[in-house]
Amino acid sequence: MSVAAVEWDIRDLLHRAGAQVLGRRADCPWCCGRRTISLTEKVYFCHRCGAKGNSFTLARELGLARRMSRAEAQNIRRERERAESVANAFLAQIGEARSSLNALHDQLLHLRDQAHERLRADHDNEIGWETLAYICTELPRLRAELVLLSDGTVEDRLSWLEGTKERRREIADRILRAGGVSTFDDKWAEVGDPTCC
Ligand SMILES: [Zn+2]
Repeated sequence: MSVAAVEWDIRDLLHRAGAQVLGRRADCPWCCGRRTISLTEKVYFCHRCGAKGNSFTLARELGLARRMSRAEAQNIRRERERAESVANAFLAQIGEARSSLNALHDQLLHLRDQAHERLRADHDNEIGWETLAYICTELPRLRAELVLLSDGTVEDRLSWLEGTKERRREIADRILRAGGVSTFDDKWAEVGDPTCC
Protein backbone atom coordinates (compact mmCIF):
# COMPACT_ATOMS: atom_id res chain seq x y z
CA MET A 1 0.00 0.00 0.00
CA SER A 2 1.56 3.32 -0.94
CA VAL A 3 -0.54 5.79 0.90
CA ALA A 4 1.25 8.87 2.19
CA ALA A 5 1.33 9.40 5.92
CA VAL A 6 -0.68 12.56 5.77
CA GLU A 7 -3.59 10.65 4.28
CA TRP A 8 -4.05 8.53 7.36
CA ASP A 9 -6.92 9.67 9.48
CA ILE A 10 -5.85 9.77 13.09
CA ARG A 11 -9.37 8.99 14.33
CA ASP A 12 -9.52 5.92 12.15
CA LEU A 13 -6.08 4.80 13.33
CA LEU A 14 -6.92 5.23 17.00
CA HIS A 15 -10.08 3.29 16.37
CA ARG A 16 -8.03 0.49 14.77
CA ALA A 17 -5.74 0.56 17.83
CA GLY A 18 -8.80 -0.18 19.94
CA ALA A 19 -9.68 3.30 21.15
CA GLN A 20 -13.13 4.73 21.25
CA VAL A 21 -12.96 8.18 19.73
CA LEU A 22 -15.41 10.90 20.62
CA GLY A 23 -14.77 14.29 19.05
CA ARG A 24 -11.36 15.46 20.17
CA ARG A 25 -11.09 12.90 22.96
CA ALA A 26 -10.49 9.18 22.96
CA ASP A 27 -10.12 6.36 25.43
CA CYS A 28 -6.52 5.25 25.64
CA PRO A 29 -5.92 1.72 24.26
CA TRP A 30 -2.52 1.61 26.01
CA CYS A 31 -3.40 2.55 29.60
CA CYS A 32 -7.18 2.11 29.31
CA GLY A 33 -7.73 5.68 30.58
CA ARG A 34 -11.21 6.94 29.90
CA ARG A 35 -11.14 9.93 27.53
CA THR A 36 -7.53 10.61 28.51
CA ILE A 37 -6.40 11.13 24.93
CA SER A 38 -6.60 14.57 23.36
CA LEU A 39 -6.30 14.65 19.63
CA THR A 40 -6.06 17.08 16.77
CA GLU A 41 -6.06 16.35 13.05
CA LYS A 42 -2.34 15.65 13.32
CA VAL A 43 -1.32 14.46 16.77
CA TYR A 44 -2.65 12.64 19.81
CA PHE A 45 -1.53 12.67 23.41
CA CYS A 46 -2.61 10.67 26.49
CA HIS A 47 -2.67 12.79 29.63
CA ARG A 48 -2.45 9.68 31.78
CA CYS A 49 0.28 7.45 30.37
CA GLY A 50 1.97 9.93 28.03
CA ALA A 51 1.36 7.87 24.88
CA LYS A 52 1.69 10.23 21.97
CA GLY A 53 2.33 10.39 18.28
CA ASN A 54 0.96 11.40 14.94
CA SER A 55 -0.90 9.60 12.22
CA PHE A 56 2.29 8.35 10.65
CA THR A 57 3.87 6.91 13.81
CA LEU A 58 0.58 5.32 14.73
CA ALA A 59 0.07 3.84 11.28
CA ARG A 60 3.55 2.37 11.52
CA GLU A 61 2.87 0.91 14.94
CA LEU A 62 -0.21 -0.69 13.54
CA GLY A 63 1.82 -2.09 10.65
CA LEU A 64 -0.13 -0.09 8.10
CA ALA A 65 2.42 2.32 6.74
CA ARG A 66 4.92 1.56 4.02
CA ARG A 67 8.61 2.11 4.60
CA MET A 68 9.49 5.76 4.97
CA SER A 69 11.93 7.62 2.78
CA ARG A 70 14.70 9.45 4.56
CA ALA A 71 13.02 12.81 3.88
CA GLU A 72 9.74 11.53 5.29
CA ALA A 73 11.48 10.19 8.36
CA GLN A 74 13.08 13.57 8.91
CA ASN A 75 9.77 15.32 8.53
CA ILE A 76 8.15 12.99 11.00
CA ARG A 77 10.94 13.52 13.47
CA ARG A 78 10.74 17.28 13.12
CA GLU A 79 7.00 17.18 13.56
CA ARG A 80 7.30 15.00 16.63
CA GLU A 81 9.92 17.29 18.11
CA ARG A 82 7.70 20.26 17.43
CA ALA A 83 4.74 18.54 19.10
CA GLU A 84 6.92 17.62 22.07
CA SER A 85 8.25 21.11 22.50
CA VAL A 86 4.73 22.56 22.32
CA ALA A 87 3.58 20.08 24.97
CA ASN A 88 6.60 20.78 27.17
CA ALA A 89 6.20 24.55 26.87
CA PHE A 90 2.55 24.20 27.84
CA LEU A 91 3.37 22.11 30.92
CA ALA A 92 6.12 24.52 31.95
CA GLN A 93 3.78 27.49 31.64
CA ILE A 94 1.14 25.72 33.69
CA GLY A 95 3.72 24.86 36.35
CA GLU A 96 4.89 28.46 36.59
CA ALA A 97 1.37 29.82 36.75
CA ARG A 98 0.46 27.35 39.49
CA SER A 99 3.43 28.17 41.64
CA SER A 100 2.83 31.91 41.43
CA LEU A 101 -0.86 31.42 42.26
CA ASN A 102 0.15 29.21 45.19
CA ALA A 103 2.48 31.92 46.47
CA LEU A 104 -0.32 34.47 46.14
CA HIS A 105 -2.65 32.11 47.96
CA ASP A 106 -0.22 31.90 50.89
CA GLN A 107 0.07 35.68 50.97
CA LEU A 108 -3.69 36.07 51.10
CA LEU A 109 -3.95 33.57 53.96
CA HIS A 110 -1.29 35.50 55.83
CA LEU A 111 -3.12 38.80 55.24
CA ARG A 112 -6.33 37.17 56.39
CA ASP A 113 -4.71 36.12 59.67
CA GLN A 114 -3.39 39.64 60.15
CA ALA A 115 -6.84 41.11 59.53
CA HIS A 116 -8.40 38.71 62.05
CA GLU A 117 -5.77 39.74 64.56
CA ARG A 118 -6.47 43.43 64.03
CA LEU A 119 -10.18 42.81 64.48
CA ARG A 120 -9.64 40.82 67.66
CA ALA A 121 -7.74 43.78 69.07
CA ASP A 122 -10.26 46.33 67.80
CA HIS A 123 -13.55 45.15 66.37
CA ASP A 124 -14.06 48.43 64.49
CA ASN A 125 -10.69 48.45 62.81
CA GLU A 126 -11.42 49.61 59.26
CA ILE A 127 -8.28 48.30 57.65
CA GLY A 128 -9.06 44.93 59.16
CA TRP A 129 -12.56 44.85 57.66
CA GLU A 130 -11.44 46.16 54.27
CA THR A 131 -8.66 43.61 54.05
CA LEU A 132 -11.06 40.85 54.96
CA ALA A 133 -13.59 41.97 52.32
CA TYR A 134 -10.88 42.00 49.67
CA ILE A 135 -9.63 38.58 50.65
CA CYS A 136 -13.12 37.13 50.68
CA THR A 137 -13.53 37.98 46.98
CA GLU A 138 -10.00 37.15 45.87
CA LEU A 139 -9.40 33.89 47.70
CA PRO A 140 -12.26 31.94 46.07
CA ARG A 141 -11.21 33.21 42.63
CA LEU A 142 -7.67 32.14 43.25
CA ARG A 143 -8.77 28.69 44.36
CA ALA A 144 -10.96 28.37 41.27
CA GLU A 145 -7.95 29.20 39.10
CA LEU A 146 -5.79 26.66 40.91
CA VAL A 147 -8.37 23.93 40.37
CA LEU A 148 -8.58 24.87 36.71
CA LEU A 149 -4.81 24.74 36.25
CA SER A 150 -4.37 21.40 37.93
CA ASP A 151 -7.42 19.56 36.62
CA GLY A 152 -9.03 21.54 33.80
CA THR A 153 -9.18 20.57 30.15
CA VAL A 154 -6.27 21.56 27.96
CA GLU A 155 -8.53 23.98 26.04
CA ASP A 156 -9.72 25.72 29.21
CA ARG A 157 -6.22 25.92 30.64
CA LEU A 158 -4.97 27.39 27.37
CA SER A 159 -7.65 30.04 27.32
CA TRP A 160 -6.70 30.98 30.89
CA LEU A 161 -2.97 31.08 30.01
CA GLU A 162 -3.60 33.21 26.95
CA GLY A 163 -6.18 35.39 28.66
CA THR A 164 -5.81 38.95 29.88
CA LYS A 165 -6.26 39.78 33.54
CA GLU A 166 -9.94 40.57 32.90
CA ARG A 167 -10.46 37.39 30.92
CA ARG A 168 -8.94 35.32 33.75
CA ARG A 169 -11.21 37.04 36.21
CA GLU A 170 -14.24 36.14 34.05
CA ILE A 171 -13.07 32.55 33.83
CA ALA A 172 -12.64 32.34 37.62
CA ASP A 173 -16.09 33.83 38.22
CA ARG A 174 -17.65 31.42 35.76
CA ILE A 175 -16.01 28.49 37.57
CA LEU A 176 -17.31 29.79 40.90
CA ARG A 177 -20.84 30.06 39.53
CA ALA A 178 -20.64 26.50 38.19
CA GLY A 179 -19.01 25.26 41.42
CA GLY A 180 -16.22 23.43 39.63
CA VAL A 181 -14.52 22.58 36.34
CA SER A 182 -14.74 19.82 33.75
CA THR A 183 -11.48 17.94 34.01
CA PHE A 184 -9.18 16.73 31.26
CA ASP A 185 -10.24 13.14 31.96
CA ASP A 186 -13.89 14.00 31.60
CA LYS A 187 -14.79 14.24 35.26
CA TRP A 188 -15.80 17.12 37.45
CA ALA A 189 -13.58 18.86 40.01
CA GLU A 190 -15.37 20.83 42.71
CA VAL A 191 -13.97 24.17 43.76
CA GLY A 192 -14.88 23.66 47.38
CA ASP A 193 -16.57 26.00 49.82
CA PRO A 194 -16.10 29.59 48.60
CA THR A 195 -16.76 31.06 52.03
CA CYS A 196 -13.40 31.65 53.59
CA CYS A 197 -13.52 34.29 56.26
ZN1 LIG B 1 -2.91 6.29 28.16
